[in-house]
Amino acid sequence: MQLTKNNLQEKQTHIYDAIVVGGGAGGLSAGIYLQRYLLSSLIIDKGKARSFWMQELHNYLGLPSDTPGRVLLQRGKEHYASLDGDFLNGFVEEVRDEGETFAVLVKVGRQKSIQAVFRAKYLIAASGIIDYLPPLDDLRNVYEYAGYNLHVCMVCDGYEMTDKKCGFFAGSEAAIEEMVFNLSWFTAYITIFTHGAFAVNEALKEKLRNHGYPLIETPIKQFLGQNHQMTGVELADGKIIELETGLISMGSCYHNTYLKEMNLELKGGNLVTDKMCRTSHPRIFAIGDLKVGLNQVIIAAGDGALAATGIWREIRRTRGARLWSKNLLKEQVED
Ligand SMILES: Cc1cc2nc3c(=O)[nH]c(=O)nc-3n(C[C@H](O)[C@H](O)[C@H](O)COP(=O)(O)OP(=O)(O)OC[C@H]3O[C@@H](n4cnc5c(N)ncnc54)[C@H](O)[C@@H]3O)c2cc1C
Repeated sequence: MQLTKNNLQEKQTHIYDAIVVGGGAGGLSAGIYLQRYLLSSLIIDKGKARSFWMQELHNYLGLPSDTPGRVLLQRGKEHYASLDGDFLNGFVEEVRDEGETFAVLVKVGRQKSIQAVFRAKYLIAASGIIDYLPPLDDLRNVYEYAGYNLHVCMVCDGYEMTDKKCGFFAGSEAAIEEMVFNLSWFTAYITIFTHGAFAVNEALKEKLRNHGYPLIETPIKQFLGQNHQMTGVELADGKIIELETGLISMGSCYHNTYLKEMNLELKGGNLVTDKMCRTSHPRIFAIGDLKVGLNQVIIAAGDGALAATGIWREIRRTRGARLWSKNLLKEQVED
């Protein structure tokens, strides 16, 4: 059921088996598995998932390779709703551990927002990350191309960049070190842009020179192109560099602030989990991009299945096997 400001009152006294923070690929997959295990679940999502920015999902088994992320999300939401899962558009501000349950504090509504508190035995953190983009004065110019042929993920889209003139938009020296030479697996025609935001040491400059990769340290004025296809960049000095594709590597924002009181084990901003996606807290699971691992839709969906199954196993063991009472009564009568 879709919860709104008008009908969430009654749900605030219910104790869910699990609350899932985030309704992207991972969270929806977890919700579908939880409901199919006959558990009660609530997905709380603030919207604009990373998968929403994915214009074409090229590498997911069984889907046409031009499937937009928003279609995947819409289908996932419909599937979850068909299983009677509860869904709320809201922003999770804080989670408090009450011992047997978690209290999840949510801000609902952008204007005239209200605070609501929901409770669950388990929590699944599926709130993902979001990529930092080149900080141009006109960010709409970046959105025009980001997710189309201006990519953010080499694993997702390296194949699309094969042997194309590629701009590498770096957020740090480390990003150049870690990514550029791997990117050359797909294309050797790489130009690196620092946007004038950081200095590059001499050893790295020489390594780039030795590979034939130009380094451009002048700030970028704007991306050029049309119909969402980026064809180059104009620099602040007016010079134009022609490109056929691009990869942004400027780091990410981790959506984990609501968990800060939990003191969970982290690696960078990612949550550390075991093979069933359980974090260092026994009743908190983390899935998808937020946990340590590969940031891919197929992994997020698989993680959702693992976390939901881990939760089901524990609840099932606590409750024990159900009795077929009629047969037991019959046996008693026969005795
Ligand atoms: C442009 C682009 C192209 C990509 N291409 C591919 C591709 O081709 N193939 C591929 O496999 N992967 C691709 N990816 C990666 C893929 O999108 C992610 O791996 C996937 O979306 C991760 O799913 P997730 O459920 O972990 O996170 P998300 O899909 O990001 O979902 C997390 C959700 O949690 C919500 N949320 C965050 N904080 C809160 C909060 N406090 N309260 C409530 N809700 C919250 C977010 O708003 C979001 O809706 C691409 C990503 C981008 C950006």
